[in-house]
Amino acid sequence: MEGTDRWQWMRDELRQLSERNQYRRLEPTGWLEGGWIERSGRRMLNLASNHYLGLSNPLPNGTDGAEEGDAGMRLGAGASRLITGNDPVYDRFEREFAAYKGTESSLVFSSGYMANVGVISALAGRGDYVFSDRLNHASIVDGIALSRAKCSRYRHRDIGQLERMLRSVPAGAKKLIVTDAVFSMDGTTAPLPELVELKERYGAILMVDEAHSGGVYGEEGQGLAHALGLQRRVDVQMGTFSKAYGACGAYVAGDAVLIQYLINKARTLIYNTALPPIVMSAVRANWLTIRSEPWRREALFQRAAWFRRALNECGFDTGDSESHIIPLLLGDNARAVDFGAALQAEGIAAVAIRPPTVPEGAARIRFTVMATHRLQDLQWAVERIAAVGRRMGIVP
Ligand SMILES: *Cc1c(COP(=O)(O)O)cnc(C)c1O
Repeated sequence: MEGTDRWQWMRDELRQLSERNQYRRLEPTGWLEGGWIERSGRRMLNLASNHYLGLSNPLPNGTDGAEEGDAGMRLGAGASRLITGNDPVYDRFEREFAAYKGTESSLVFSSGYMANVGVISALAGRGDYVFSDRLNHASIVDGIALSRAKCSRYRHRDIGQLERMLRSVPAGAKKLIVTDAVFSMDGTTAPLPELVELKERYGAILMVDEAHSGGVYGEEGQGLAHALGLQRRVDVQMGTFSKAYGACGAYVAGDAVLIQYLINKARTLIYNTALPPIVMSAVRANWLTIRSEPWRREALFQRAAWFRRALNECGFDTGDSESHIIPLLLGDNARAVDFGAALQAEGIAAVAIRPPTVPEGAARIRFTVMATHRLQDLQWAVERIAAVGRRMGIVP
């Protein structure tokens, strides 16, 4: 792959679309009164919206739930972004967000599930090869299934097995490696430097899902790839605004040609109503907070490390967790359900996670800490968790 443009296949397909007059681009679309819009600087009557009853007006101040500054922000986008739903708030955010992520471009999706399904099925198709960590999120699994590509699942973080798989497919084949950055049920982190090295050696595309690491890792919360200085070497950075960002929606960040390709090929962007503009605006506000308040990240790391150590000192097995996601491994489904119920009776909300969310025989309680947890409350919780563990004969 060295010396060639690794996105040449995308450029070729985009050129073909353009020759067939099928090339799609996002046009900035602002909504005006009376069913008029301003699209690419021109005033037009909007005869393409799905807001049939005209309920798409800006939220007036004083509307239930509306806050100062929300006026002018619409609730519904009114259509897919490629029709007349492309509110200017997306374009502005995508430019700012790409600069923050250290990539050429970025693209907002309506959820993380939509992003994974749309991106993976756009990048891989019949005859291509996808390599997926066994513990990847269900939305990645579904995206691969929809792509119809051949899928090889490698053991959790097993770089050696992944390399053997990469070596065994035809040299010229299109290969996509997908991984969570922080694994949602184990709190482990992906070996990103090794993955980057492998994908470069074998000419594969590397996609990283930063759902649990976005906002959390990196100087200003840019994510794990950025924290490791790999933001230019990971081809597709994806993440959601539904976790640390405290809202909903998702992004993909990468090269400009990749984003153009996704605009043309990602069915969950093309055939899905855009994220509500008012949510986009709220995401942006939370993102500004995430950047400017590093104390939240510091407090989170400190609490996570304390909580994990405290559970281990009680004799609990937290697996290989190295993040703010801390599983308490129990194995048996019934034991996990009983443990969860006992915790709730003690006043602790933590839920049993069972197959198929985790592998058979790997049921657990999944704890996640927050930057805003008070230390004395966490201390109290560990005492109650230990009491339940002793009562159930799990710890001495
Ligand atoms: C939660 C999650 C998603 C899905 O994100 P939504 O915005 O909730 O749809 C995708 N990937 C991972 C790893 C997740 O944890």
